Formats: sequence, structure tokens, C-alpha cells
Amino acid sequence: MLKLNSLACRLAFLSAAAGLGCAAPRPRVPVVLVSIDTLRPDHLGCYGYPRPTSPHLDAFREDAVLFRSAFAHAPSTLLSHASILTSLRPPHHGASIADDLAVPLEVVTLAEALRARGYATASFNGGVQLDGVYGLDQGFDVYESFRPRGAAPENLVDAADRFGHTVARARDFLCRQEGRAFFLFLHTYEVHHPYSPDPADLAPFRGDYEGPLPDAIGVELLEAINAGRRPVDERDRQHVVDAYDAEIRSADRAFGALVALLKEKGLYDDALVVVTSDHGEEFSEHGWLGWHAHTLFDELLRVPLLVKLPGNRRAGTTARQLVRGIDVAPTMLRAAGVPVPDTFEGRDLMAAGAGPEQIWSGREVGHGRVASSLRTAEWKLAGRRLFDLRRDPGEHVDLAARQPDLARRLGEQRRAVIAGRQVQPRRPARVDEELRERLRALGYVQ
Ligand SMILES: [Zn+2]
Repeated sequence: MLKLNSLACRLAFLSAAAGLGCAAPRPRVPVVLVSIDTLRPDHLGCYGYPRPTSPHLDAFREDAVLFRSAFAHAPSTLLSHASILTSLRPPHHGASIADDLAVPLEVVTLAEALRARGYATASFNGGVQLDGVYGLDQGFDVYESFRPRGAAPENLVDAADRFGHTVARARDFLCRQEGRAFFLFLHTYEVHHPYSPDPADLAPFRGDYEGPLPDAIGVELLEAINAGRRPVDERDRQHVVDAYDAEIRSADRAFGALVALLKEKGLYDDALVVVTSDHGEEFSEHGWLGWHAHTLFDELLRVPLLVKLPGNRRAGTTARQLVRGIDVAPTMLRAAGVPVPDTFEGRDLMAAGAGPEQIWSGREVGHGRVASSLRTAEWKLAGRRLFDLRRDPGEHVDLAARQPDLARRLGEQRRAVIAGRQVQPRRPARVDEELRERLRALGYVQ
């Protein structure tokens, strides 16, 4: 029954959104969503980073609203992106890497909502956890995935894995639209490990490092460091960060080319352009280097979010409310003048009023199980540990034993967030051996 009801709701929404029998004019706001995978906000100039990683994003910020407290629903690629694109938390959208599950066909996606209003929809993305088998291709007329390089050193540098290549594909798509409204979802793994920057991008950051690590930091090297087989000192650790920062600089340059393309086509001023990420990266805050998906600490959940509204409304402003991945899609639809599906759980960030009081996040531990956290503006319950985010933003002092009533109350709220909605029926993802090998090469599966 659940499946039939969900499908009926979905069809009803898509029919209504298409405006069948209705003469209302179609909205023409160009819509662009950019996800730079693994991008920490505190490594961007517009979020206060002192290094020259992001001159183009910093300039774009002057036209956008900057959200200071945006958080992902998961520290990993598929779960987090599925939340962004469906406006559902991971247990409700159903996608899973650990259990080979796709977003069910019954779930309405951001792309479907826009396509139902006449938008041409296209995604150029890095594939792997965004491979079409996981269902995020729903609603896209064009869904093109570039599978990123593996861990082998000879594969560290590949022009097709740079965001610049993605933007070039977007240019080809835009040139074919001839005035039709479009939705572009662009995603890149360029900043994701392995960190393999061009020497020219690394030069401003690496200084005179003469330690034992190479300039290209592969996944196997990071695995060896994190397993304790390859000891590193503080200079080595900084060299890994240098390579990460250099890849941000390259992705930022490609983002600048995207903005230039929109301006060249006369689309920029009217466009809705959103830039975000799916999760962060750990650089030794809790013992791991160049890694993610393994904890629910803020270095993995805090993400950048820049929203340039049509007509550059609210340009250059800063918002401090709590923001969730599920809020991105409804905010985009409202800004584009497109109906928001009633299955979407997020809220329009531009509407008056405060943001959500709590944010649920979870990471997969296999066999249908997740470890989860619930944060408020002041507190975070992660597993059974309780952190005071105001006094201990680094999340090092567990207060659960000292504040058992608070920990219990947050635990009940954390359960209620998930229990409040029925879980979608499962949809197996057909993962072939090549894709599984790519997942292995990026350290996602054993
Ligand atoms: Zn990711």
C-alpha cells in the first residue's frame, strides 16, 4: 500500500506541476546547482581562510547570500547528495552505498520538479557515488558521469576529472538550449582525495617543503598514514593540506569560467546559482588525515552554501541560521517560482522566520544501520557522546555522563525525527564490478 500511495502522490504532483490544462506562463529563471565534493567552507576566502584558494568564489559571494551554518545530512557523497536532491533525510530517501540501494522511483527529485515545469535538465558529474545506478539521475534529460581517477599513481592526473572539464560540457549543453529554461547540476570530485594538483596550482601553497611525501597525495598513501604505517610530522600534514588547497584553487578557477559563461550568454543576472558541497574533510582534528565518511564531527558535516538569487537580491548578505541539506531544493524551487513537492521535508531559506532548531545527520555502518547525530545551535549528540558546541567547538569533551537528562532528551528527539516519516520501499542498485572497483579505489568499500 505504501508503494502505491507514494506513487499516486508522485504522479499527482508531477501532473499538477506540469500545469496540465493551465495557461499560466512558465518561469524562465535559469537554475544552476554546483556541488564541489569534499569542500570545507573554512578553506575558502569568503569564509575567512587566509590562503588564496578561492578568488572566483569570493567574487561570486558579493552577488550571493552566504550561509555560515550549513550542515550535511551525511559525511559521504551519495547519502548527502540524495538528501540535497530529494529534500529527504538519508533514512527516508533510502539510497545506500553500504547496502547497494538506489533512491526509489517513488521519490520526487528536484530535477523532476523542474522538468515538470518545462525545464531542460542536465547533470555533468563525477559519477561513482553519483552513478546513475543510485537513482540520482531521476528527472534529468542528460545525466553524464565522469568516473574519477583511481588510486594508482599513474592515474593521479586526468583532465577529465577537473571541474574545468565539467564546465566545458556544461557550455556544450547551454549552447544547445536556444532560450529554453534549464536546470544544470554540476558536480566534481576534483577536491576529493587523491589530491593531485597541477604544479602551478600547488606552487602558492607548498613553500619549500622538502619532506618525504610526494606532491600528489594518493588514496593508498593516505590509507597508510591513517593506519600508522607511514609516520608523518606536522610539516608533512601541512603538505597534504597544501595539495588539497591547490585543488580548490583549480576548481575555483573552473567555477570562474562557469560564471563567465553565464555572463557571456546574458543569463547570469536572472539566474539562480547555488554553490555547496556534500561534506567536508578531516585534517587531523580527530586523528585521521585527508579522510571523510568515518565520523559525524563538524569538520565532516559543515559545508559551504552560497545562494545567488535572480536579480542578485540580498547580494552580499550573510545568514547565520542553521541550514540543512534538505533545505537546498525547496529554496531553489521557490526562488525559481516552481511549486515545491509536498514530499520535500526542507524549508525555503529565504522565507521569514528562524531556521530549523535541530539537524539530524547519519553515517552508514552497514546492513541497513546508521550511526547518527543531532545538533542544535548549542549542543550535539553524536552516537552517545554529548558536546557543548559553544564552549567546545572542536568536539573533544564528552559531557554525556555529566548531563544525562539532556543527552536522553536529545536522543529521544533524534529518534523522533526519523520515526516521524515512513521509510521508502527499498530499490536495489545494480552495482557492476567496474563501479565497485572505483568505490574501492576511493576507499569507500573494502
Ligand atoms: Zn563526497
